[in-house]
Amino acid sequence: MTDLLTNCKRTQYSKEITPDLNGKEITIMGWIHEMRDLGGIIFVLLRDRDGLIQITAPSKKISPELFADIRKLKKESVLAVKGMVQESPKAPGGVEIIPLEFKLLNESKLPLPLDTTEKVRAEIDTRLDSRFLDLRKHSVSAIFKIKSRMLHSVRVFLEKNGFIEINTPKLVASATEGGTELFPITYFEREAFLGQSPQLYKQMMMASGFDQVYEIAPIFRAEEHDTMRHLNEAISIDLEASFCDHEDVMEILENLVSTAISDVSEHCKDELKTLNVDLKIPKTPFERIDYDDVVDMVNSQGVLLTHGEDLSRAAEKAMGQLMEGYYFITGWPTDIKPFYVMPNKDDPKKSCAFDLMYKDLEISSGAMRVHQHDLLVERMKKKGLNPDSFNRYLAAFEYGMPPHAGWGLGAERFTMCLTGVKNIRETVLFPRDRRRLTP
Ligand code: ATP
Ligand code: MG
Repeated sequence: MTDLLTNCKRTQYSKEITPDLNGKEITIMGWIHEMRDLGGIIFVLLRDRDGLIQITAPSKKISPELFADIRKLKKESVLAVKGMVQESPKAPGGVEIIPLEFKLLNESKLPLPLDTTEKVRAEIDTRLDSRFLDLRKHSVSAIFKIKSRMLHSVRVFLEKNGFIEINTPKLVASATEGGTELFPITYFEREAFLGQSPQLYKQMMMASGFDQVYEIAPIFRAEEHDTMRHLNEAISIDLEASFCDHEDVMEILENLVSTAISDVSEHCKDELKTLNVDLKIPKTPFERIDYDDVVDMVNSQGVLLTHGEDLSRAAEKAMGQLMEGYYFITGWPTDIKPFYVMPNKDDPKKSCAFDLMYKDLEISSGAMRVHQHDLLVERMKKKGLNPDSFNRYLAAFEYGMPPHAGWGLGAERFTMCLTGVKNIRETVLFPRDRRRLTP
């Protein structure tokens, strides 16, 4: 097995083989997507990461041994093919390969648990059970190429704007917000939890003088309900900035979102085409709608929303009916936001918190934070939390904590906006939900 690749190196990916290579000898590697045996001629459609290429084997042009060996090949087996490029207007990409020799690098078992040519549609559970096969479909891998490009452009944008990437612990002693959405774990002889958010750590980094930080890392939430927009393990793009208020970080967020969209639309043309997505670059600034007006808008749609309540799913959908693209909801009631959110100075019932929405989907939440120690303790008590269990966090507020603000943007929710997929599971390689812990 070890000499399989000796003297056998890939020269091109399928998409690099264009008609101007006519007559050249190339070596390509990939999976057998489809085989069509017409008796005197066999067509093998070979697939690699970026595309498909046709291998055309006419019995008259190649040796009888090679022809016989090609006939024995099975779908989804892995091949290295050395051959001659031939211009062919009828073939995909306008070229075909006339094989000179091939190596069967590994044979696939048949039947396949899943049709990789997408002619037979499979349920999401069947697809996720055989995810490695599902991901061979270009319509599925396109989502992850877009996600990868989005994360790349987010990093480039933040680095350009002076942010430092940090890594904070995911094994934590207590809840960020005292919520019930935590996964308990056994940590030697104690109980610990998986982190639901880097919130408290990124705030402590403000007290460390790092000024502007970001983290792209998993968050874990024991969401009970099976929805199309919740995962139990998700990636959060988190940001915190000192000497900033909520308006400042909203501006960073809208510029980041529109920059990432423009970068994806420029660099993922093939993937967007595969997914049939016409990505529009949103104009900044995004519209800001006050919570009070949201209540009226939702009620005008015949959906009941009482002032002071968080948006129900029905309320989000009502907003989605009225709003086209990206918009902020600002001026949230202080009572329904976490303890670390800064109340509005002139009207403490309202807060400096905001959500970024795309139609009916919340993709980010942020706020200016409370930086005054005593106010923070008071806010914790009001929320029924015990300040003693936050003493290490609170200490950071006693020795020179600058005013600061930040947000968390869900990488998968943002990927849903970029790809148009309706189920968040589609945007994760191996999703974790209430019922799924494998593969
Ligand atoms: P929702 O109300 O939609 O459940 P949330 O308000 O609880 O979300 P936040 O705590 O504000 O979520 O987290 C910030 C962002 O992280 C969200 O806007 C979302 O994009 C993402 N996020 C939060 N929880 C999840 C989850 N369970 N699955 C996927 N993404 C999530
Ligand atoms: Mg939120």
